[in-house]
Amino acid sequence: MLERLEELRHEGLTAVEASNSEDELREIEVRLLGRKGALTDLLKSLGTLPKEDRPAAGQAANRVKQEIAAQIEVARGKLHAFNLATDLAGDGLDATLPGPKPPAGGLHPLGQIARELEDVFQSMGFRIADGPEVELEDNNFDALNIPADHPARESHDTIWVTPEGDGRGKGKGVCMRTHTSCVQIRALREHGAPLRVVAPGRVFRQETPDPTHDHTFHQMEGLVVDKGVGVHHLLHAMNTLLEGVFGRKVETRLRPGFFPFVEPGFELDARCPFCKTGCRVCKQSTWIELMPGGMIHPNVLRACDIDPDVYSGYAFGLGLSRMVMLRYGIDDIRWLLSGDLRFLEQFRA
Ligand SMILES: [Zn+2]
Repeated sequence: MLERLEELRHEGLTAVEASNSEDELREIEVRLLGRKGALTDLLKSLGTLPKEDRPAAGQAANRVKQEIAAQIEVARGKLHAFNLATDLAGDGLDATLPGPKPPAGGLHPLGQIARELEDVFQSMGFRIADGPEVELEDNNFDALNIPADHPARESHDTIWVTPEGDGRGKGKGVCMRTHTSCVQIRALREHGAPLRVVAPGRVFRQETPDPTHDHTFHQMEGLVVDKGVGVHHLLHAMNTLLEGVFGRKVETRLRPGFFPFVEPGFELDARCPFCKTGCRVCKQSTWIELMPGGMIHPNVLRACDIDPDVYSGYAFGLGLSRMVMLRYGIDDIRWLLSGDLRFLEQFRA
């Protein structure tokens, strides 16, 4: 028994010494130490020895087993170090391989949704319009049929650039635009009727930021002016748009709403995409206020030199910030413009 043990020890250590690859080491490990290996067999045969010899023989066998296992580990370590050294010495090192890629940027979720909507609208024949963020009072209020004494003009809503009393209220003031509707005025005055246009962009309000309000947010407003345009056209456009955003048909309803630049005016609600019976987002009502809209007020058309007896049109305003929040279940609008990478990285396409 002890002789056989010594034989195996010798065989094992010699083989390890002679080996020069991981495969060979692995083979020795299996052949001697594995579950069906020679040393294991020997240990199993301990029972055939006289009882008083068993402890010594068992210990000796275990010592040999450990010794071979240890030598295999040492050989492995040397092999690894050798391979690494060879690599570093130039044999496997390719200095022309490209380094790690720098992190790539991505579109802001607001930019993503704006592009998707622009695609939907362009497929319906709309053109994309742009305008300045600092706007004339005339374009932001007067031409939109917003009376001079309307509370929205007061400083608690509008961020004025011109000082108080400096043309303000007489249509000659300058303000940060409070909506993108002023781009429609610019487009109508520039192109006349017929016209289909959407205007995405930033708008500004004098607000104290909280989870549902921010001083800067994003809107997309659209309008269609043509002969014989009716409310059904508005509804169709809205439903097509919602399908584009949410990827499926969304149930909608119209409620009457008042906005100076439309008559009649509506609030369009959509079925809450998050629940069936009411949730926090829809305030338990299963409906979400999505966008105001309506038939363009004749005074607005007149302000743009378009004859309301010949042409009619619809207009709507879409809160892009709100759409993003709805789509991704974001519960605080302030995240959107926070510039926080932990937030933004979740939307990298
Ligand atoms: Zn809900």
